[in-house]
Amino acid sequence: MRASQFFISTLKEAPADADITSQKLMIRAGFIRKLAAGIYSWMPMGLRVVRKVENIVREEMNRAGAIEVSLPVVQPAGLWQESGRWDTMGEEMLRFKDRHERDFALQPTAEEVITDIARSELRSYRALPKNFYQIQTKFRDERRPRFGVMRGREFTMKDAYSFDRSAEAAGASYENMYNTYCRIFDRLGLTYRAVAADTGAIGGDRSHEFQVIADTGEDAIIYCPDSDYAANIELAEAVAPAGERPAATAALTKVHTPKVKTIADLVAFLNIDIKSTVKALVVEGAEGEAVLLLVRGDHELNEVKAEKIAGIKKPLTMASPALIREAFGANPGSLGPVGFKGRMIADRTVAKMADFVIGANEDDQHYTGANFGRDCAEPEVADIRNVVAGDPSPDGKGVLAIQRGIEVGHVFYLGTKYSAAMNATFLDEDGKPKPFEMGCYGIGVTRILGAAIEQNHDDKGIIWPDSLAPFNVVICPVGYDRSAEVKAAADSLYEALLAKGVDVIIDDRGERPGAMFADWELIGAPHRVTIGDRGLKEGKVEYQQRRDATATPVAADAILEHLL
Ligand code: ATP
Ligand code: MG
Ligand code: MG
Ligand code: MG
Repeated sequence: MRASQFFISTLKEAPADADITSQKLMIRAGFIRKLAAGIYSWMPMGLRVVRKVENIVREEMNRAGAIEVSLPVVQPAGLWQESGRWDTMGEEMLRFKDRHERDFALQPTAEEVITDIARSELRSYRALPKNFYQIQTKFRDERRPRFGVMRGREFTMKDAYSFDRSAEAAGASYENMYNTYCRIFDRLGLTYRAVAADTGAIGGDRSHEFQVIADTGEDAIIYCPDSDYAANIELAEAVAPAGERPAATAALTKVHTPKVKTIADLVAFLNIDIKSTVKALVVEGAEGEAVLLLVRGDHELNEVKAEKIAGIKKPLTMASPALIREAFGANPGSLGPVGFKGRMIADRTVAKMADFVIGANEDDQHYTGANFGRDCAEPEVADIRNVVAGDPSPDGKGVLAIQRGIEVGHVFYLGTKYSAAMNATFLDEDGKPKPFEMGCYGIGVTRILGAAIEQNHDDKGIIWPDSLAPFNVVICPVGYDRSAEVKAAADSLYEALLAKGVDVIIDDRGERPGAMFADWELIGAPHRVTIGDRGLKEGKVEYQQRRDATATPVAADAILEHLL
């Protein structure tokens, strides 16, 4: 590529509404331009990186035996009604009507559509296993789109769906995808961790998130440096207003065996600003029942009321969010915290709370003198919500540490959740219809760009790993339009690299060296060759890796070899 024919559009300053480094750098380097909240145009330089991510993902998915499809972005309501998700997806799903008043949605994910295809196309056990994937635009009307493409509303996801005969076979598909994800994130040059996902009451080891380690991540990962134990505490963001995330993190990291005896202690225990936030604490009631206490943030400290859900004995997964809200509202009685196995839920949404089996116990009101807090909690392997750094790891192999992560991938064993709801069956060997055993597997293709930049940058700009760079080598001729020698040397290196299949760009724009170097440091090309008259007189050009502090002279006739 010749820079004069390409489109390079760098900015000295990032716009004022950009919050984090990757977002600022992507805008300054001319990768993206904002159209609306969470909606970005991909500019030519950024699109090249997106394509590199897509190609790595596609190659590894194909290698794993998955088959590419492309499912419509616009999806009719009918399938979503069949699965029940038309009612449960909430406001994240963008819905609209066509000219005939029929309901549609933009795909936030595609379990329904692919299950519909499976039930009509995969009729016999002989057709199984199958794993279909797509790399496709998703739309989620995120409550708080932010951090550029990291939490966009329109974004690209690779989503895959596996169909198997049995739970055992689905386990093998899951493992295949897990291993494929490791290969993909290795090739992308990311520092990541696969962690047991926060699946609430679903639990188990059949859901893993792939988290890129970064301080700007919205998830908190607990892990044991001495073993492979790792899990995610999702700091669900739907409830937390702007600026509260640090407080929530503090709650996770600062709380140390407090003695909670009063509501004020409880508030201190939760480490919250009660005037502006809503927090919930699940404690285990006297008879082993969980009681949900809600601390409302609209009272003075001494008047805080913790409310209890009364009258709901069935699992809340069966209760609608409306019912849960009604239960909170209908029962504003004051209740102290009781029970012992305290579990803190940081900034959770009501929908997330529905993952917990919550009962009611009218006798829970006797709390005075009771001893609350983590120091009297029995160790509970599955309960990760009130851990602090230094706690013993549940696997007994060391102590826990906490770090922030960005969720870039998610693998999930679904069982027959969708196939049963949508009556998607195949005929098994015994001639009987059976529901498919399914799994779903997502990768945030465009989020990966942000995550990679969070991990790879300095004060000059982006530092792309070779696998992702928009251009791997940039040739910077000094005086391209003035010196015939420089032009000849630069052109011949450019042609030679092209012939070898190297992703090379020659900066023939005629910029001054300072401006030219600043652009390529901002854009993050991993390898730069500078060619100037002075060096050529001694038979030398200069080579500099993006992370190097200075350039190294290399013999002009050895530079091609050096780059390959
Ligand atoms: P998050 O917890 O960040 O909201 P999620 O758990 O809702 O993500 P999944 O449904 O698991 O996301 O989707 C698969 C992948 O798609 C995620 O692992 C993430 O990398 C990506 N993704 C999800 N939401 C967004 C978004 N709003 N913008 C960009 N990428 C996203
Ligand atoms: Mg989400
Ligand atoms: Mg998530
Ligand atoms: Mg997820």
